[in-house]
Amino acid sequence: MLDIRIEKAPVLKEKPDPATLGFGKIFTDHMFIMDYTVEEGWHDARIVPFGPFEIHPASTVLHYGAEIFEGLKAYRTAEGKVQMFRPIENVRRMNASAERLCLPEIPEEDALQVLDAFVTFEQDWVPYKDGTSLYLRPFMFGNDETLGLHTIKNARYVLIASPVGSYYKEGINPVRIMIETEDVRAVRGGTGYAKCGGNYGASTRAGMKAEQKGYSQVLWLDGVERKYIEEVGAMNVMFKIGGEIVTPELSGSILPGITRKSCIEVLRNKGYKVTERKISVDELGKALADGTLEEAWGCGTAAVVSPIGELCYKDTIFKINDGKIGSVTQELYDTLTGIQWGKIKDTYGWIYPIAPNN
Ligand SMILES: *Cc1c(COP(=O)(O)O)cnc(C)c1O
Repeated sequence: MLDIRIEKAPVLKEKPDPATLGFGKIFTDHMFIMDYTVEEGWHDARIVPFGPFEIHPASTVLHYGAEIFEGLKAYRTAEGKVQMFRPIENVRRMNASAERLCLPEIPEEDALQVLDAFVTFEQDWVPYKDGTSLYLRPFMFGNDETLGLHTIKNARYVLIASPVGSYYKEGINPVRIMIETEDVRAVRGGTGYAKCGGNYGASTRAGMKAEQKGYSQVLWLDGVERKYIEEVGAMNVMFKIGGEIVTPELSGSILPGITRKSCIEVLRNKGYKVTERKISVDELGKALADGTLEEAWGCGTAAVVSPIGELCYKDTIFKINDGKIGSVTQELYDTLTGIQWGKIKDTYGWIYPIAPNN
């Protein structure tokens, strides 16, 4: 159990108009910080006014990329209650990322306590409008004040929160995706399965190229043969081929998404066959040609489920389901968002309720 000190902001900000929220531009009144040293472990847990903090110019994170993060949301139900979705999964994944980057892990119950305490404290910031939520961004960085490359002895954990708008402002529209054939995001043995800033540094160039060509995201291929599908931008990917759902197996270079895991559980529960295995671009092309490629979608916390209407591979365009959202994609979207916003009864035990603040 952490002892969390609270320093309240002297003046609270005005809450934004929920109709104008974008993604990650507005932050709440406070943030949570705690520090780590080898001698003291995690200490000085505090909720303080949101704002910049000082960082030493030699800090490890600024030179050697020692950074990991998470992303999850707090949702407002129709009755006005606040709830999180599977936060323990984010806590566990952050520890797995920490292990990979030699950053200090946080005991699960302490990390969960931090999320609970902070969301309870800032709950007025969870917006009321349909489709909106409070995005939570925990992150951790190595903070040794030396350019020497040693195992990390000092680190900082921070939690910030941002009210975000509905991902789909004009209904769910299928996206167009470019399959990247030059750059790779991750390789086996690397950091692909860790949610770390460095993976994004490596992805930026392909993302920019895709954007210039009018595509919204990049689909990554495996780093060795550039043959097998890995994932899409910041989403995992699934296909419906010949009535069966297939998704790339977690090979070490793919981020183990919590939305991915939830999709698999929901689909199996609804009686669909779901297979985790290797899927090559060739196989997709053949399935498209013989008419068995029925649906494709990305899945991640931000969009929940995002139908893919078109894939571009070199000079070939794969048009999927006439560029329209498929029925399984729609069913998954309705089920997951239904549970998250409390419109559907949670029979999985995924909802984590936040106590009201008064
Ligand atoms: C965060 C992330 C995902 C999606 O994970 P969720 O837990 O479902 O939000 C997928 N791929 C990458 C590269 C990510 O960073």
